[in-house]
Parts: sequence; C-alpha cells; structure tokens
Amino acid sequence: MANESNSRKAILVTPEICIGCRACQVACKSWNQLPASKTKNNGTYQNPPDLESNTFNIIRFTEVPSQETPVRWLFVSRRCMHCEDAGCVKICPSGALYKTAEGAVAFDRDKCIGCKLCSTGCPFDVPRYDKEGKVSKCHLCFDRIAANMAPSCVKTCPTGALKYGDRAELIAEAKKNGYATIYGENDLKGLGSVYAFKEEPKLYGLKENPALPSSVAFWHSYLKPLSWIGLGGVVAAAAIHYLAIGPHKEEKEEV
Ligand code: SF4
Ligand code: SF4
Ligand code: SF4
Repeated sequence: MANESNSRKAILVTPEICIGCRACQVACKSWNQLPASKTKNNGTYQNPPDLESNTFNIIRFTEVPSQETPVRWLFVSRRCMHCEDAGCVKICPSGALYKTAEGAVAFDRDKCIGCKLCSTGCPFDVPRYDKEGKVSKCHLCFDRIAANMAPSCVKTCPTGALKYGDRAELIAEAKKNGYATIYGENDLKGLGSVYAFKEEPKLYGLKENPALPSSVAFWHSYLKPLSWIGLGGVVAAAAIHYLAIGPHKEEKEEV
C-alpha cells in the first residue's frame, strides 16, 4: 500500500452489494443543493447518462452476459477518485483545486478562472463546469467530514456498498472479507475512492492502470513554476517601478 498519513480517509465502494437504488445520487443533490436535470430515457435506468456540474456521483448500469440468467446487471458508483497524486490539483494554475487534511480533493469556486485545464489533467474524466464555466465535482463532502460526519451519500446507502472511514482500515477490512482486488489501492499513489472486487474491475467498466497524462508532469515541472516566476517578475517589476519612479500618473494627451 502507498505510504500515507494515519489521518487519510476514504470511501470504500463495494459494487457487489450495490442494489442500484441511487439513493446516493439523491443524497448528494440534497446535501449540496444541486438541482435535477431534465433527461430522456435512452434504454437504460442509468440517469443522468454521465456526471454533470450538478451531479457529483452517478450509478453506472452495465449489462454483462451470464450463464444463470439471460443477463447480469452490474452497478457501480462513478465519482471523483480523490487521487493522492491528483492531476487536477497539479495542473490547476489558480489554486482552486486543493487537498484537505482528510485527503479529499476539494475546490474553491471563487478561485476558479474557468481555464478547464483540470479536465485535461484528470485520468478519470471527472471535472465538470457550471454555467459560468467554474469547476464542479464531488468534494468528498469536505464540510461534513471536517466535522466528523460521513459523506451524505455514504450516510444514505442502505446496503453498505458505500463506506467511509480510515483508508487503511477500510482496505484491510475488505481484504479480510474476501475482496482480493482493491481498485485504487496503489494507483496514482492511492485513490481516496477505493473499490472492493472479487471479480475483474474492468467488468464494471473501471479504467485499467490509470495514470496521469504526460502533459501534467510537463506542466507541473516546467510551465507552472515558470508561470509563477513570470507572475513574480511582474509583481517585482511593478514594486521596483513604484520605488524608483513613484506611482504611475496618467499622461495628458498633447493637443
Ligand atoms: S479523479 Fe480527477 S478530479 Fe478527482 S482527484 Fe483525481 S484527477 Fe482530480
Ligand atoms: S461524497 Fe459528498 S459530494 Fe461526493 S458524491 Fe458523496 S454526497 Fe456527493
Ligand atoms: S445508495 Fe448504495 S446501494 Fe443504493 S445505488 Fe448508491 S451505492 Fe448502490
């Protein structure tokens, strides 16, 4: 398991015991005061079809062939993974995306400049943007967990398919219960949304071997420091100009 502080928290998703009730979707909307979207039935109960700026988690419905029944219906929660090595945080130039003490990747809407770089830095296609172009996604109920309350979706889940707690303890408990595969245990230095499986995660549509896009490393190592140096240079130049020449005065137009 990746090295982590004892305070790191996580959501453990166990798709095998999810019944697809979508109470978690409703609870999230309720706590975060997110409006519903008008959608059309497109041949599946998965609704809305994908994450939206006002839908922070969805249950993905997948049908797979089965020997016992004509078809098997699989349900899995799709949401922000709260990556330890978070591409969105690394690439964000304004500091709008940040990590909390518990390990959540939260956002400050006021700081978002709407550049949408975070969507290019995310291996899971999570960030969405509201009508004003500001980032919007699951923030692990950072306000609730800071007050020692479980995230709203976890609190509502009737089967225990969503659990919240100490990350290391959740993973150990899942393994003890026979879930040999923990998706996200070590990927991207450890995800904050981890998934317990007895089957292959790809059966549920989870991405194999998720990794940061190479553009994130380049941006984080070279361009972002340069942008700060550039900003620092502008501020320093302005300060030097002020000390040496004094405040800028409007020049009168010569007639
Ligand atoms: S899943 Fe995407 S949006 Fe969520 S923390 Fe990871 S990189 Fe950021
Ligand atoms: S953790 Fe909170 S914000 Fe994230 S999906 Fe659950 S209820 Fe929504
Ligand atoms: S509330 Fe729990 S059981 Fe219901 S859909 Fe969500 S994860 Fe599955």
